[in-house]
Amino acid sequence: MSRLLVIGCGGVAQVAIQKCCQNSETFTELMIASRTESKCIELKEKIEKAGTSVKLSTAKVDADSKDELVKLISSYKPDAVLNVALPYQDLTIMDACLECKVDYIDTANYEPEDTDDPEWRAIYEKRCAEKGFTAYFDYSWQWAYEEKFKEAGLTALLGTGFDPGVTSVFTAYAAKHYFDEIDTIDILDCNGGDHGYPFATNFNPEINLREVSANGSYMENGKWVETKPMEIKRVYNFPEVGEKDMYLLHHEEIEALGRNFPNVKRIRFFMTFGQSYLTHMKCLENVGMLSTSPINFDGKEIVPIQFLKALLPDPASLGPITVGKTNIGCIFTGRKDGKERQIYIYNVCDHQECYKELGSQAISYTTGVPAMIGTALVVKGLWKKPGVFTTDEFDPDPYMEMLNTYGLPWVVDENPVLVD
Ligand code: NDP
Repeated sequence: MSRLLVIGCGGVAQVAIQKCCQNSETFTELMIASRTESKCIELKEKIEKAGTSVKLSTAKVDADSKDELVKLISSYKPDAVLNVALPYQDLTIMDACLECKVDYIDTANYEPEDTDDPEWRAIYEKRCAEKGFTAYFDYSWQWAYEEKFKEAGLTALLGTGFDPGVTSVFTAYAAKHYFDEIDTIDILDCNGGDHGYPFATNFNPEINLREVSANGSYMENGKWVETKPMEIKRVYNFPEVGEKDMYLLHHEEIEALGRNFPNVKRIRFFMTFGQSYLTHMKCLENVGMLSTSPINFDGKEIVPIQFLKALLPDPASLGPITVGKTNIGCIFTGRKDGKERQIYIYNVCDHQECYKELGSQAISYTTGVPAMIGTALVVKGLWKKPGVFTTDEFDPDPYMEMLNTYGLPWVVDENPVLVD
Protein backbone atom coordinates (compact mmCIF):
# COMPACT_ATOMS: atom_id res chain seq x y z
CA MET A 1 0.00 0.00 0.00
CA SER A 2 1.76 3.12 -1.07
CA ARG A 3 1.30 6.44 -2.69
CA LEU A 4 3.84 7.59 -5.27
CA LEU A 5 4.47 10.97 -6.87
CA VAL A 6 6.13 10.75 -10.29
CA ILE A 7 7.66 13.93 -11.69
CA GLY A 8 8.01 14.11 -15.48
CA CYS A 9 5.84 12.55 -18.16
CA GLY A 10 8.28 11.90 -21.02
CA GLY A 11 9.44 8.65 -22.63
CA VAL A 12 10.91 7.08 -19.49
CA ALA A 13 8.14 8.27 -17.16
CA GLN A 14 5.43 6.78 -19.38
CA VAL A 15 7.00 3.33 -19.05
CA ALA A 16 7.77 3.68 -15.34
CA ILE A 17 4.19 4.76 -14.59
CA GLN A 18 2.61 1.95 -16.63
CA LYS A 19 4.92 -0.55 -14.91
CA CYS A 20 3.91 0.85 -11.48
CA CYS A 21 0.32 0.17 -12.50
CA GLN A 22 1.28 -3.44 -13.34
CA ASN A 23 2.70 -3.64 -9.80
CA SER A 24 -0.49 -2.55 -8.07
CA GLU A 25 0.30 -4.63 -4.98
CA THR A 26 3.04 -2.11 -4.21
CA PHE A 27 1.64 1.07 -5.71
CA THR A 28 -1.97 1.79 -4.86
CA GLU A 29 -2.11 5.52 -5.60
CA LEU A 30 0.00 7.48 -8.06
CA MET A 31 0.16 11.12 -9.08
CA ILE A 32 1.71 12.09 -12.43
CA ALA A 33 3.02 15.66 -12.23
CA SER A 34 4.91 17.47 -14.96
CA ARG A 35 5.46 20.78 -16.70
CA THR A 36 2.86 20.00 -19.37
CA GLU A 37 -0.15 18.59 -17.52
CA SER A 38 -1.99 17.65 -20.73
CA LYS A 39 0.57 14.83 -21.27
CA CYS A 40 -0.12 13.56 -17.75
CA ILE A 41 -3.87 13.60 -18.34
CA GLU A 42 -3.45 11.80 -21.67
CA LEU A 43 -1.40 9.05 -20.03
CA LYS A 44 -3.82 8.74 -17.10
CA GLU A 45 -6.71 8.30 -19.54
CA LYS A 46 -4.80 5.72 -21.58
CA ILE A 47 -3.99 3.65 -18.47
CA GLU A 48 -7.53 3.92 -17.09
CA LYS A 49 -8.96 2.86 -20.44
CA ALA A 50 -6.76 -0.24 -20.42
CA GLY A 51 -7.87 -0.90 -16.81
CA THR A 52 -6.00 -0.42 -13.54
CA SER A 53 -6.76 -0.62 -9.84
CA VAL A 54 -4.20 2.13 -9.10
CA LYS A 55 -5.83 5.43 -8.21
CA LEU A 56 -4.29 7.95 -10.62
CA SER A 57 -4.27 11.72 -10.46
CA THR A 58 -2.35 14.47 -12.26
CA ALA A 59 -0.89 17.90 -11.53
CA LYS A 60 1.10 20.63 -13.17
CA VAL A 61 4.44 21.40 -11.55
CA ASP A 62 7.57 23.32 -12.44
CA ALA A 63 10.24 21.11 -10.93
CA ASP A 64 12.79 23.93 -11.15
CA SER A 65 10.87 25.60 -8.34
CA LYS A 66 11.41 24.10 -4.90
CA ASP A 67 8.43 26.06 -3.56
CA GLU A 68 6.03 24.59 -6.12
CA LEU A 69 7.37 21.11 -5.39
CA VAL A 70 7.03 21.51 -1.63
CA LYS A 71 3.46 22.68 -2.08
CA LEU A 72 2.60 19.71 -4.26
CA ILE A 73 4.38 17.11 -2.10
CA SER A 74 2.84 18.42 1.11
CA SER A 75 -0.64 18.36 -0.35
CA TYR A 76 -0.40 14.89 -2.01
CA LYS A 77 1.67 13.35 0.85
CA PRO A 78 3.37 10.57 -1.14
CA ASP A 79 5.55 7.86 0.41
CA ALA A 80 8.21 8.52 -2.23
CA VAL A 81 8.97 10.79 -5.18
CA LEU A 82 10.25 9.29 -8.43
CA ASN A 83 12.06 11.94 -10.47
CA VAL A 84 11.94 11.10 -14.17
CA ALA A 85 12.06 14.70 -15.35
CA LEU A 86 15.51 15.86 -16.44
CA PRO A 87 18.83 15.74 -14.55
CA TYR A 88 18.60 19.56 -14.27
CA GLN A 89 15.84 19.16 -11.68
CA ASP A 90 17.57 16.61 -9.41
CA LEU A 91 18.68 19.05 -6.72
CA THR A 92 15.45 21.04 -6.41
CA ILE A 93 13.50 17.79 -6.11
CA MET A 94 15.95 16.43 -3.51
CA ASP A 95 15.62 19.68 -1.53
CA ALA A 96 11.83 19.46 -1.64
CA CYS A 97 11.89 15.79 -0.56
CA LEU A 98 14.07 16.70 2.42
CA GLU A 99 11.75 19.51 3.42
CA CYS A 100 8.68 17.26 3.15
CA LYS A 101 10.44 14.17 4.63
CA VAL A 102 9.88 11.86 1.67
CA ASP A 103 12.21 9.31 0.02
CA TYR A 104 13.73 10.30 -3.35
CA ILE A 105 14.50 8.18 -6.44
CA ASP A 106 15.95 9.17 -9.84
CA THR A 107 17.55 7.74 -12.99
CA ALA A 108 20.32 10.18 -13.91
CA ASN A 109 22.76 12.31 -11.97
CA TYR A 110 22.66 16.06 -11.69
CA GLU A 111 23.94 18.33 -14.39
CA PRO A 112 23.21 22.02 -14.77
CA GLU A 113 21.11 23.32 -17.62
CA ASP A 114 23.40 26.32 -18.13
CA THR A 115 26.99 25.13 -18.19
CA ASP A 116 28.18 28.74 -18.63
CA ASP A 117 26.86 29.77 -15.21
CA PRO A 118 30.04 31.20 -13.60
CA GLU A 119 29.22 29.94 -10.10
CA TRP A 120 28.72 26.37 -11.34
CA ARG A 121 31.68 26.65 -13.73
CA ALA A 122 34.14 27.52 -10.94
CA ILE A 123 33.16 24.37 -8.99
CA TYR A 124 33.22 22.30 -12.18
CA GLU A 125 36.68 23.44 -13.19
CA LYS A 126 38.05 22.67 -9.72
CA ARG A 127 36.54 19.17 -9.94
CA CYS A 128 38.00 18.59 -13.43
CA ALA A 129 41.45 19.49 -12.15
CA GLU A 130 41.14 17.39 -8.98
CA LYS A 131 39.46 14.30 -10.40
CA GLY A 132 40.67 14.26 -14.00
CA PHE A 133 37.44 13.94 -15.96
CA THR A 134 35.54 16.74 -17.68
CA ALA A 135 31.96 15.44 -18.04
CA TYR A 136 29.37 18.01 -17.04
CA PHE A 137 27.63 15.53 -14.79
CA ASP A 138 29.08 13.86 -11.72
CA TYR A 139 27.89 12.50 -8.40
CA SER A 140 29.49 15.13 -6.17
CA TRP A 141 26.40 17.36 -6.15
CA GLN A 142 24.08 14.61 -5.00
CA TRP A 143 26.55 12.79 -2.74
CA ALA A 144 26.82 16.12 -0.90
CA TYR A 145 23.26 15.41 0.39
CA GLU A 146 24.43 12.27 2.25
CA GLU A 147 24.41 13.77 5.76
CA LYS A 148 21.09 15.58 5.22
CA PHE A 149 19.31 12.41 4.09
CA LYS A 150 20.95 10.38 6.87
CA GLU A 151 19.91 12.85 9.55
CA ALA A 152 16.35 12.96 8.18
CA GLY A 153 16.20 9.13 8.11
CA LEU A 154 15.38 9.26 4.38
CA THR A 155 16.61 7.26 1.40
CA ALA A 156 17.80 8.79 -1.84
CA LEU A 157 18.29 6.13 -4.52
CA LEU A 158 20.25 7.57 -7.44
CA GLY A 159 20.38 6.35 -11.02
CA THR A 160 17.93 3.46 -11.15
CA GLY A 161 17.61 3.29 -14.94
CA PHE A 162 19.41 0.69 -17.06
CA ASP A 163 22.79 2.35 -17.33
CA PRO A 164 23.27 3.54 -14.67
CA GLY A 165 21.01 1.35 -12.63
CA VAL A 166 20.79 -2.23 -13.81
CA THR A 167 24.48 -2.28 -14.84
CA SER A 168 25.39 -1.44 -11.23
CA VAL A 169 23.00 -4.12 -9.92
CA PHE A 170 24.68 -6.59 -12.33
CA THR A 171 28.00 -5.62 -10.70
CA ALA A 172 26.68 -6.18 -7.18
CA TYR A 173 25.20 -9.51 -8.33
CA ALA A 174 28.49 -10.62 -9.93
CA ALA A 175 30.38 -9.64 -6.77
CA LYS A 176 27.89 -11.51 -4.55
CA HIS A 177 27.52 -14.74 -6.52
CA TYR A 178 30.35 -15.12 -9.03
CA PHE A 179 33.58 -13.53 -7.81
CA ASP A 180 35.85 -13.21 -4.79
CA GLU A 181 37.72 -10.47 -6.65
CA ILE A 182 36.66 -8.53 -9.76
CA ASP A 183 39.55 -7.18 -11.86
CA THR A 184 37.76 -5.49 -14.77
CA ILE A 185 34.27 -4.36 -15.71
CA ASP A 186 33.29 -3.49 -19.29
CA ILE A 187 29.78 -2.08 -19.59
CA LEU A 188 28.44 -2.51 -23.13
CA ASP A 189 25.38 -0.61 -24.32
CA CYS A 190 24.25 -1.71 -27.76
CA ASN A 191 21.21 -0.35 -29.53
CA GLY A 192 20.68 -2.45 -32.62
CA GLY A 193 17.39 -0.66 -33.35
CA ASP A 194 16.61 1.13 -36.59
CA HIS A 195 13.99 3.94 -36.72
CA GLY A 196 14.45 4.77 -40.38
CA TYR A 197 15.44 8.43 -39.81
CA PRO A 198 18.90 9.58 -40.95
CA PHE A 199 19.29 11.19 -37.52
CA ALA A 200 17.27 11.02 -34.30
CA THR A 201 18.04 10.37 -30.66
CA ASN A 202 16.39 7.64 -28.61
CA PHE A 203 15.95 9.72 -25.51
CA ASN A 204 15.97 13.41 -24.69
CA PRO A 205 18.17 14.86 -27.51
CA GLU A 206 19.72 17.52 -25.33
CA ILE A 207 20.89 15.07 -22.66
CA ASN A 208 21.86 12.46 -25.24
CA LEU A 209 23.90 14.76 -27.48
CA ARG A 210 25.69 16.37 -24.58
CA GLU A 211 26.73 12.94 -23.36
CA VAL A 212 28.06 11.57 -26.62
CA SER A 213 29.83 14.71 -27.86
CA ALA A 214 31.87 14.96 -24.65
CA ASN A 215 35.32 13.50 -23.94
CA GLY A 216 35.39 9.80 -23.10
CA SER A 217 36.96 8.48 -19.92
CA TYR A 218 37.50 5.29 -17.97
CA MET A 219 38.90 4.35 -14.62
CA GLU A 220 42.17 2.52 -14.22
CA ASN A 221 43.69 1.68 -10.82
CA GLY A 222 41.43 4.24 -9.15
CA LYS A 223 42.35 7.08 -11.52
CA TRP A 224 40.46 8.61 -14.43
CA VAL A 225 41.98 8.31 -17.90
CA GLU A 226 40.41 10.77 -20.32
CA THR A 227 40.15 10.34 -24.10
CA LYS A 228 38.97 12.59 -26.92
CA PRO A 229 35.33 12.10 -27.97
CA MET A 230 34.95 8.74 -29.75
CA GLU A 231 38.72 8.16 -29.67
CA ILE A 232 38.52 4.49 -28.64
CA LYS A 233 36.55 2.25 -30.95
CA ARG A 234 35.98 -1.50 -30.72
CA VAL A 235 33.86 -3.92 -32.69
CA TYR A 236 31.78 -6.46 -30.74
CA ASN A 237 29.48 -9.25 -31.79
CA PHE A 238 26.44 -8.82 -29.53
CA PRO A 239 24.24 -11.82 -28.78
CA GLU A 240 20.92 -11.55 -30.68
CA VAL A 241 22.00 -8.27 -32.35
CA GLY A 242 25.21 -8.97 -34.28
CA GLU A 243 28.42 -7.11 -34.94
CA LYS A 244 28.46 -3.38 -34.09
CA ASP A 245 30.99 -0.55 -33.77
CA MET A 246 31.15 0.73 -30.21
CA TYR A 247 32.94 3.70 -28.69
CA LEU A 248 34.28 4.40 -25.23
CA LEU A 249 32.28 7.08 -23.40
CA HIS A 250 32.36 8.61 -19.97
CA HIS A 251 29.38 7.28 -18.05
CA GLU A 252 28.11 8.01 -14.59
CA GLU A 253 28.15 4.51 -13.11
CA ILE A 254 31.94 4.33 -13.57
CA GLU A 255 32.27 6.96 -10.85
CA ALA A 256 30.01 5.16 -8.36
CA LEU A 257 31.44 1.71 -9.10
CA GLY A 258 34.98 3.10 -8.79
CA ARG A 259 34.11 4.40 -5.35
CA ASN A 260 32.17 1.37 -4.13
CA PHE A 261 34.39 -1.34 -5.67
CA PRO A 262 37.83 0.21 -5.15
CA ASN A 263 39.72 -3.04 -5.87
CA VAL A 264 38.46 -3.27 -9.46
CA LYS A 265 41.43 -2.39 -11.65
CA ARG A 266 39.64 -1.06 -14.73
CA ILE A 267 36.08 0.09 -15.47
CA ARG A 268 35.07 1.11 -18.99
CA PHE A 269 31.81 1.95 -20.77
CA PHE A 270 31.13 1.45 -24.49
CA MET A 271 28.10 2.47 -26.54
CA THR A 272 27.32 1.49 -30.12
CA PHE A 273 26.81 4.17 -32.79
CA GLY A 274 26.28 3.88 -36.52
CA GLN A 275 28.35 5.96 -38.91
CA SER A 276 25.35 8.08 -39.99
CA TYR A 277 24.66 9.13 -36.39
CA LEU A 278 28.29 10.11 -35.83
CA THR A 279 28.57 12.06 -39.09
CA HIS A 280 25.40 14.04 -38.34
CA MET A 281 26.50 14.73 -34.80
CA LYS A 282 29.94 15.96 -35.86
CA CYS A 283 28.40 18.24 -38.46
CA LEU A 284 25.87 19.68 -35.98
CA GLU A 285 28.65 20.20 -33.46
CA ASN A 286 30.89 21.91 -36.04
CA VAL A 287 28.19 24.43 -36.91
CA GLY A 288 27.43 25.18 -33.25
CA MET A 289 24.05 23.44 -33.01
CA LEU A 290 25.04 21.47 -29.89
CA SER A 291 25.84 24.62 -27.93
CA THR A 292 23.96 25.23 -24.68
CA SER A 293 24.84 28.94 -24.64
CA PRO A 294 21.96 31.25 -25.67
CA ILE A 295 22.43 33.26 -28.87
CA ASN A 296 20.45 36.18 -30.19
CA PHE A 297 18.49 35.41 -33.36
CA ASP A 298 16.30 38.09 -34.91
CA GLY A 299 15.90 39.81 -31.56
CA LYS A 300 14.99 36.59 -29.80
CA GLU A 301 17.21 34.59 -27.49
CA ILE A 302 17.51 30.91 -28.43
CA VAL A 303 19.64 28.04 -27.15
CA PRO A 304 20.95 26.15 -30.22
CA ILE A 305 20.64 22.63 -28.76
CA GLN A 306 17.06 23.37 -27.64
CA PHE A 307 16.22 24.62 -31.12
CA LEU A 308 17.72 21.42 -32.54
CA LYS A 309 15.58 19.41 -30.10
CA ALA A 310 12.49 21.09 -31.54
CA LEU A 311 13.53 20.03 -35.06
CA LEU A 312 14.34 16.41 -34.26
CA PRO A 313 11.70 13.66 -33.98
CA ASP A 314 10.28 13.37 -30.47
CA PRO A 315 11.92 10.22 -29.02
CA ALA A 316 8.47 9.06 -27.90
CA SER A 317 7.32 9.08 -31.56
CA LEU A 318 10.00 6.53 -32.54
CA GLY A 319 8.17 3.69 -30.79
CA PRO A 320 5.95 2.52 -33.65
CA ILE A 321 8.71 2.63 -36.26
CA THR A 322 11.76 1.29 -34.43
CA VAL A 323 12.67 -2.32 -35.18
CA GLY A 324 15.51 -4.44 -33.79
CA LYS A 325 16.90 -5.13 -30.33
CA THR A 326 19.02 -3.62 -27.61
CA ASN A 327 21.62 -5.59 -25.71
CA ILE A 328 22.98 -3.95 -22.55
CA GLY A 329 25.18 -5.67 -20.02
CA CYS A 330 28.53 -6.02 -18.29
CA ILE A 331 31.53 -8.27 -18.83
CA PHE A 332 33.41 -9.05 -15.61
CA THR A 333 36.80 -10.69 -15.20
CA GLY A 334 38.36 -11.80 -11.92
CA ARG A 335 38.69 -14.81 -9.66
CA LYS A 336 36.52 -17.20 -7.68
CA ASP A 337 38.03 -19.82 -5.34
CA GLY A 338 41.48 -19.09 -6.77
CA LYS A 339 40.37 -19.74 -10.39
CA GLU A 340 40.25 -17.14 -13.17
CA ARG A 341 36.71 -16.39 -14.29
CA GLN A 342 34.93 -14.19 -16.83
CA ILE A 343 31.19 -13.68 -17.17
CA TYR A 344 28.85 -11.50 -19.21
CA ILE A 345 25.47 -10.56 -17.72
CA TYR A 346 23.15 -8.94 -20.22
CA ASN A 347 19.58 -8.22 -21.20
CA VAL A 348 18.19 -8.25 -24.72
CA CYS A 349 15.12 -6.12 -25.35
CA ASP A 350 13.08 -5.99 -28.56
CA HIS A 351 11.84 -2.54 -29.65
CA GLN A 352 8.65 -3.85 -31.24
CA GLU A 353 7.78 -6.07 -28.25
CA CYS A 354 8.08 -3.00 -25.99
CA TYR A 355 5.89 -1.03 -28.32
CA LYS A 356 3.25 -3.75 -28.37
CA GLU A 357 3.19 -3.92 -24.58
CA LEU A 358 3.36 -0.24 -23.59
CA GLY A 359 3.56 1.91 -26.71
CA SER A 360 7.26 2.78 -26.15
CA GLN A 361 10.58 1.94 -27.77
CA ALA A 362 13.18 -0.15 -25.94
CA ILE A 363 15.35 2.75 -24.69
CA SER A 364 12.50 4.23 -22.65
CA TYR A 365 11.41 0.71 -21.70
CA THR A 366 14.82 -0.41 -20.44
CA THR A 367 15.02 2.75 -18.29
CA GLY A 368 11.41 2.92 -17.09
CA VAL A 369 11.22 -0.68 -15.84
CA PRO A 370 14.25 -0.32 -13.50
CA ALA A 371 12.92 3.07 -12.35
CA MET A 372 9.78 1.28 -11.15
CA ILE A 373 11.79 -1.59 -9.61
CA GLY A 374 14.12 0.70 -7.61
CA THR A 375 11.14 2.72 -6.41
CA ALA A 376 9.22 -0.43 -5.41
CA LEU A 377 12.18 -1.73 -3.40
CA VAL A 378 12.53 1.57 -1.52
CA VAL A 379 8.79 1.81 -0.89
CA LYS A 380 8.58 -1.83 0.29
CA GLY A 381 11.47 -1.20 2.71
CA LEU A 382 13.80 -3.77 1.08
CA TRP A 383 16.14 -1.06 -0.15
CA LYS A 384 15.48 1.50 2.52
CA LYS A 385 18.30 2.91 4.61
CA PRO A 386 19.11 6.51 5.52
CA GLY A 387 21.48 8.28 3.16
CA VAL A 388 22.23 8.72 -0.55
CA PHE A 389 22.94 5.52 -2.50
CA THR A 390 23.47 4.08 -5.96
CA THR A 391 21.98 0.74 -6.97
CA ASP A 392 25.19 -1.24 -6.36
CA GLU A 393 24.93 -0.56 -2.61
CA PHE A 394 22.00 -2.87 -1.83
CA ASP A 395 21.25 -6.61 -2.04
CA PRO A 396 20.92 -7.18 -5.82
CA ASP A 397 18.81 -10.36 -5.58
CA PRO A 398 15.29 -8.88 -5.28
CA TYR A 399 16.07 -6.38 -8.06
CA MET A 400 17.37 -9.15 -10.35
CA GLU A 401 14.23 -11.19 -9.64
CA MET A 402 11.98 -8.25 -10.51
CA LEU A 403 13.86 -7.65 -13.78
CA ASN A 404 12.78 -11.14 -14.83
CA THR A 405 9.19 -10.56 -13.72
CA TYR A 406 8.72 -7.10 -15.24
CA GLY A 407 10.03 -7.59 -18.76
CA LEU A 408 13.83 -7.36 -18.66
CA PRO A 409 15.05 -10.96 -18.29
CA TRP A 410 18.83 -11.38 -18.10
CA VAL A 411 21.34 -14.00 -19.11
CA VAL A 412 24.67 -15.01 -17.55
CA ASP A 413 27.16 -16.16 -20.19
CA GLU A 414 30.09 -17.87 -18.46
CA ASN A 415 32.28 -17.96 -21.57
CA PRO A 416 32.04 -14.54 -23.23
CA VAL A 417 34.36 -12.96 -25.78
CA LEU A 418 36.27 -10.19 -23.98
CA VAL A 419 36.80 -6.64 -25.26
CA ASP A 420 40.53 -5.91 -25.84
P1 NDP B 1 11.89 13.39 -21.87
O1 NDP B 1 12.46 14.65 -22.40
O2 NDP B 1 11.14 12.48 -22.77
O3 NDP B 1 10.94 13.71 -20.62
C1 NDP B 1 11.27 14.63 -19.65
C2 NDP B 1 10.00 14.98 -18.92
O4 NDP B 1 10.32 15.89 -17.86
C3 NDP B 1 8.98 15.70 -19.80
O5 NDP B 1 7.70 15.24 -19.46
C4 NDP B 1 9.16 17.17 -19.41
O6 NDP B 1 8.03 17.96 -19.56
C5 NDP B 1 9.47 17.03 -17.94
N1 NDP B 1 10.14 18.22 -17.45
C6 NDP B 1 11.23 18.84 -17.96
N2 NDP B 1 11.51 19.94 -17.26
C7 NDP B 1 10.59 20.01 -16.27
C8 NDP B 1 10.34 20.92 -15.23
N3 NDP B 1 11.11 21.99 -15.02
N4 NDP B 1 9.30 20.69 -14.41
C9 NDP B 1 8.50 19.61 -14.58
N5 NDP B 1 8.67 18.71 -15.56
C10 NDP B 1 9.71 18.91 -16.39
O7 NDP B 1 13.12 12.61 -21.19
P2 NDP B 1 13.26 11.03 -20.98
O8 NDP B 1 11.98 10.48 -20.49
O9 NDP B 1 13.93 10.46 -22.14
O10 NDP B 1 14.32 11.01 -19.77
C11 NDP B 1 13.91 11.17 -18.43
C12 NDP B 1 15.11 10.98 -17.51
O11 NDP B 1 15.64 9.67 -17.66
C13 NDP B 1 16.27 11.95 -17.81
O12 NDP B 1 16.81 12.36 -16.58
C14 NDP B 1 17.28 11.06 -18.52
O13 NDP B 1 18.59 11.52 -18.37
C15 NDP B 1 17.05 9.75 -17.81
N6 NDP B 1 17.52 8.57 -18.55
C16 NDP B 1 18.23 7.63 -17.85
C17 NDP B 1 18.69 6.50 -18.49
C18 NDP B 1 19.37 5.42 -17.70
O14 NDP B 1 19.54 4.33 -18.24
N7 NDP B 1 19.74 5.63 -16.46
C19 NDP B 1 18.49 6.30 -19.94
C20 NDP B 1 17.64 7.31 -20.55
C21 NDP B 1 17.21 8.41 -19.88
P3 NDP B 1 7.51 18.50 -21.01
O15 NDP B 1 6.61 17.41 -21.46
O16 NDP B 1 6.84 19.77 -20.71
O17 NDP B 1 8.74 18.65 -21.86
